[in-house]
Amino acid sequence: MTIEELVQYQIKASQDQINRPVEKRKAALKNLRNLLTDNEEKICGSIAEDFGKPYIEAYLTEIATVVHEIDFHLKNLSRWAKPEQVRNSIFTFPSSGSVYREPFGTVLIIGAWNYPVHLLFMPLIGALSAGNNAVLKPSELAKNTSALVNDLIEKYFSKNLLAVVEGAVEETQQLLSLPFDKIFFTGSTRVGKIVMKAAAEQLIPVTLELGGKSPAIVHSDANMEVSAKRIWWGKTMNAGQICVAPDFVLIHESVKESFIEQGKIVLSEFYRNDYLTGQNYTQIINLDHFDRLIRLLDHSDVLFGGTSNRDNRFIEPTLIDADWDSDIMQEEIFGPLLPIVTYNSMDEVQHRLNSRPSPLALYLFTESREVEEMIIQNVSFGGGCINETISHLGNPGLPFGGVGLSGMGSYHGKRSFDAFSREKSILKKPTWPDPDFRYPPLDSNKLKWIKKLFIR
Ligand code: NAD
Repeated sequence: MTIEELVQYQIKASQDQINRPVEKRKAALKNLRNLLTDNEEKICGSIAEDFGKPYIEAYLTEIATVVHEIDFHLKNLSRWAKPEQVRNSIFTFPSSGSVYREPFGTVLIIGAWNYPVHLLFMPLIGALSAGNNAVLKPSELAKNTSALVNDLIEKYFSKNLLAVVEGAVEETQQLLSLPFDKIFFTGSTRVGKIVMKAAAEQLIPVTLELGGKSPAIVHSDANMEVSAKRIWWGKTMNAGQICVAPDFVLIHESVKESFIEQGKIVLSEFYRNDYLTGQNYTQIINLDHFDRLIRLLDHSDVLFGGTSNRDNRFIEPTLIDADWDSDIMQEEIFGPLLPIVTYNSMDEVQHRLNSRPSPLALYLFTESREVEEMIIQNVSFGGGCINETISHLGNPGLPFGGVGLSGMGSYHGKRSFDAFSREKSILKKPTWPDPDFRYPPLDSNKLKWIKKLFIR
């Protein structure tokens, strides 16, 4: 079957409503759950082959979180899928109003390589839960996992409900030229623009989950031990190759030295000075990215760390002294290099951050409610945490998404169901009474009544 035939086959299936009844959607979600739990070792193994992600990390982030999301949908789907009654309006009295939620139809989900299962399956849960069929396009950079996802989906699902198209730019461009009903894209801001342009040609709605430079702000009153531990935890997971990894630290200058010292202690506790790619630490995905990171490292002022090994694509977690103009402060790092920049006042923080593209995430370490509110209310960012990094993704009650160049739309939990449904409004009116007041002929007497009724 060609790519075009596959998509037409799915479009026909969505017209036949093969995933429309709620019970069928639940069966599809259970099937996806089985796929994950039956194949734990294969999945973690293929991700390790692609870029040496340690087994426990892969299990937690690619299987456990996804199964948890499936269970959340299974528990709530019947309620979400029910039409919602809305209050009446004076203009439509007497009548009732309901909002139905219908699937878009056939959706395209394009994933990034850094969580090669999670980033396809998390949106897929929303797509299935809302009653869509889907085509998945895994990233070609995690090639073993892409092939495995293809095999498993073929084994567990019929092609008219769910299928995989493997490939790189050419295949993705081809998919983008086809008449999908919705596109959900996870990846870089650069490719996000390509996707949105292609979608605009056919007026296809999009959700874009992109990247950016997410700051971790450490204020003068922060608990330094916990701040260092949680920032380095967020930066070393997946070797910093996470869209919401703390990209750089913005620190009050009075506590910079203390953060540096705590960082050394934290990393020696985490790794005992023995980084073992594939066992306790992740590799850089490929040599292109490795070389890009090493170029940044070579132009930087290293405070600690800085070792690397091209043979196994290892880069040590590295703290870098930087200022706003440093090379490393110009683009998303996506690796274990952590620049640190100082500030003196919160006004400076607000001004600096708001004059750059809004990041996907922001982390603030402080004991002050006032500082917390000041940042939340005055700085633009997708979402984030106070005294923590990354964990806002772990709560299905919190929508996850970016703003401006870091993305548009959101998902997780109910928002995933919403991201793949459209709202259909229905007003139902009884046939009695039927006063002739609104029907022509219109005269001044009617206008008098309209004014009395509607404008008080
Ligand atoms: P990428 O944009 O290079 O690739 C993403 C997808 O787009 C892949 O499937 C790829 O095959 C496809 N693609 C690449 N070039 C294309 C082109 N010219 N035309 C059409 N399709 C194309 O991103 P990546 O390197 O896989 O991932 C890293 C980026 O993704 C980072 O910027 C990161 O912040 C972001 N990201 C965001 C999230 C999120 O949830 N917001 C999650 C993970 C990664």
